[in-house]
Amino acid sequence: MSANRSVRLAHNIIDRPKLDLPAAGQFAINEIFCSLQGEGAQAGRAMVFLRFSQCNLRCSVSNSGFDCDTDFSGKRVMTQSQIFSELSAMKLQTDWLLLTGGEPALQVTPDFLGALKNAGWKIAIETNGTIRLPEGFDWITLSPKSAEHTIRQRHADEVKYVLSEGMSLPRPSIAAKHYFVSPAFQPDGTLRREDLEWCINLVKQAPDKWRLSIQLHKLIGIR
Ligand code: SF4
Repeated sequence: MSANRSVRLAHNIIDRPKLDLPAAGQFAINEIFCSLQGEGAQAGRAMVFLRFSQCNLRCSVSNSGFDCDTDFSGKRVMTQSQIFSELSAMKLQTDWLLLTGGEPALQVTPDFLGALKNAGWKIAIETNGTIRLPEGFDWITLSPKSAEHTIRQRHADEVKYVLSEGMSLPRPSIAAKHYFVSPAFQPDGTLRREDLEWCINLVKQAPDKWRLSIQLHKLIGIR
């Protein structure tokens, strides 16, 4: 095992006007589907995934240690009522709704969050932390992909770092109940043994704080 791929998390956040975001009152949605959460402390829980289009980062091996494997460019521009109409059919399967992306915090407003909660959803979010979230989420997963000083969300339920061989154990200043190290998968969906073993050894360095999280949905071939 080598330590030859030292990566410093970058701070190149794309300004909001440069992103292809819809007008106020509309949302750019990539997909809506029901599946199982595949990682972190909620792994195995059935959730409806509301995936927002657009992200303010462009993660790559050189700036984050791995290449982004999420296609967040495709979008349907939807109104709030159109989103609620699609979600209502899925409410029979689970009360949990996960807002993900891309970066969902680019589009989630306090009003939208409040309306979802009034409709009876428990709301989880997966964010890169570069935008401060409104209050009221039931579960926050913060997965930093940029330099620590760019993180605006200062608390979460869980913090998860995607790491590959050669990257060091982070020293997050974000308050959270759970801290996870997650080995980066390859663009073809495989997990390199070297990245897995590197992350296992990182966890062993501070076992009281860190746990390993594997993206189970990739391992078992569900989305
Ligand atoms: S923050 Fe997530 S969605 Fe955005 S570019 Fe990075 S890996 Fe992709």
